[in-house]
Amino acid sequence: MPVTHRLTAPAPGWTTATDVVVVGSGVAGLTVALNARRAGLRVMVVTKAMLDDGSTRWAQGGIAAALGEGDTPEQHLDDTLVAGAGLCDEDAVRTLVTEGPDAVRRLIATGAAFDRDAGGEIMLTREGGHHRRRIAHAGGDATGAEISRALVSAVRSDPGIELIEHALVLDLLTDADGNAAGLTLHVMGEGQRDGVGAIRARAVVLATGGMGQVFSATTNPAVSTGDGVALALRAGAEVADLEFVQFHPTVLWLGPDAEGQQPLVSEAVRGEGAHLVDASGTRFMLGQHELAELAPRDIVAKAITRQMQLQGAEHMYLDGRHFGAEMWEHRFPTILASCRAHGIDPVTEPIPVAPAAHYASGGIRTDLSGRTTVPGLYACGEVACTGVHGANRLASNSLLEGLVFAERIADDLAARHRAGDLPERAVDVAAARAAHPVPLPAPEARAEIQRLMSRGAGVLRSAASMADTAAGLALLAETAYTHVAQEKPADPRVETWEAANLLLVAAALVAAAAQRDETRGCHWREDFPERDDTRWQRHLITTLTASGDLVSTPEEQ
Ligand SMILES: Cc1cc2nc3c(=O)[nH]c(=O)nc-3n(C[C@H](O)[C@H](O)[C@H](O)COP(=O)(O)OP(=O)(O)OC[C@H]3O[C@@H](n4cnc5c(N)ncnc54)[C@H](O)[C@@H]3O)c2cc1C
Repeated sequence: MPVTHRLTAPAPGWTTATDVVVVGSGVAGLTVALNARRAGLRVMVVTKAMLDDGSTRWAQGGIAAALGEGDTPEQHLDDTLVAGAGLCDEDAVRTLVTEGPDAVRRLIATGAAFDRDAGGEIMLTREGGHHRRRIAHAGGDATGAEISRALVSAVRSDPGIELIEHALVLDLLTDADGNAAGLTLHVMGEGQRDGVGAIRARAVVLATGGMGQVFSATTNPAVSTGDGVALALRAGAEVADLEFVQFHPTVLWLGPDAEGQQPLVSEAVRGEGAHLVDASGTRFMLGQHELAELAPRDIVAKAITRQMQLQGAEHMYLDGRHFGAEMWEHRFPTILASCRAHGIDPVTEPIPVAPAAHYASGGIRTDLSGRTTVPGLYACGEVACTGVHGANRLASNSLLEGLVFAERIADDLAARHRAGDLPERAVDVAAARAAHPVPLPAPEARAEIQRLMSRGAGVLRSAASMADTAAGLALLAETAYTHVAQEKPADPRVETWEAANLLLVAAALVAAAAQRDETRGCHWREDFPERDDTRWQRHLITTLTASGDLVSTPEEQ
């Protein structure tokens, strides 16, 4: 008989308080923390693992901003809108591209060192979908590591910011009027704040990053389990555009059974002139798009997948042998080292590549100040859906989005603080429960969720594949604990919470992807290969009902 356990906010063993609690320590979370602190607010940063364990550290290519001679925010806007395939919110994009250049300059002032030429000017490269060189990079291909280093160092040297590492946030706490009032969390350490506790706060900011771990093969680190989106759904917030998962076209192919985080071969390698070829050395992107290998990511990912299908191949190749050893060593040291660690030498042989889940274009719906549909709950970075990316993110716009909208959240918090509009909220912590409980599967469900999602909801989708995936997920939700012969879960572990979050975001993603019966951006339906602007030039909003059902509704036109 199926046994369904529900995830509810457990009774916390301890409680602490602050003004603003920020969940996540990537570019978005740390930028909010630093700026909110400058505004005089008490800030606590909670993060699931170590401070630099999110996606930010892994970013290679760089950060896009109209910093170069002859480039303008308007041109950056045009490229972003084209990549977004008719679904970008133009106001959000305009905000990104106009505030972006100064936000990057402020990041530099915080301590991030970008690569510069002999004259001291910031070096800029090109990536897919950009008609200009506008990608600033650091350490060659180690941009995210440098940004993370600079921000972590800045927060560590500010005694006004309290840092809690190894703490997995579970659910939102609200007051009687539905305002965010804090959150529950599970701290994996020793000491006074071990186990499940609660943080009371005047405002809560989610900056929990992506959900790549919902698929078997992804560029995302292990922490990217969609926790923020799951929390927001359980708290009654709207999420949007979940069906638009960007698959990075060129991820190092490690064999048919590879799982989890896999090494990325940055778009910048194509930007510098590497070619995509099949096993016979033929360049298959020529004639498919005016930008050939530098076409937007969805076009390249689809072309690679199509070639793999046509030729019955498990991967294609990226050929950068003509760069020579010196360029590989200086421009792409990280990629060179990671390829060599897996037995491939890009200097002398083409790199085997295949698409893998890379970026969630959708997420928790926010306005231009990062406010979600739950009062007092904010979201920014990859977990948010500001409308900037539409149906497909333009390369290197995500670090910039995290930066720009994090600053806007801090500005909004500061303005509310000054206006006395950030009151302490009353909440009965002991009685608090998630508004919308969801099934709590066994930790072992993680791998099965990933397999189901990769098989039916990856680069290629159809009504039939979605139905199979949804049925598999539903079965998992009903029977997970019977599989491991447990009548009820022992004290839920961190892995249990993560599996519950993965299951919920997987089901939400599939619900949206099944409903959108068209092909647009990075959502590719084999049974509906055309873009349908008449019916689908609009967002799909997903919510979780109090009875635990996911509902995806097209936004009014
Ligand atoms: C390999 C790779 C290369 C990339 N290259 C580029 C690039 O060149 N340019 C670009 O613009 N973008 C790039 N991206 C995307 C970009 O790195 C991310 O979108 C961006 O860094 C996300 O930042 P973030 O602050 O939103 O989240 P992250 O940096 O992912 O941080 C999320 C944080 O939330 C924490 N967290 C998650 N869940 C919980 C929880 N339940 N409780 C507590 N803490 C939690 C995590 O531990 C982490 O600290 C790349 C991504 C990858 C994976």
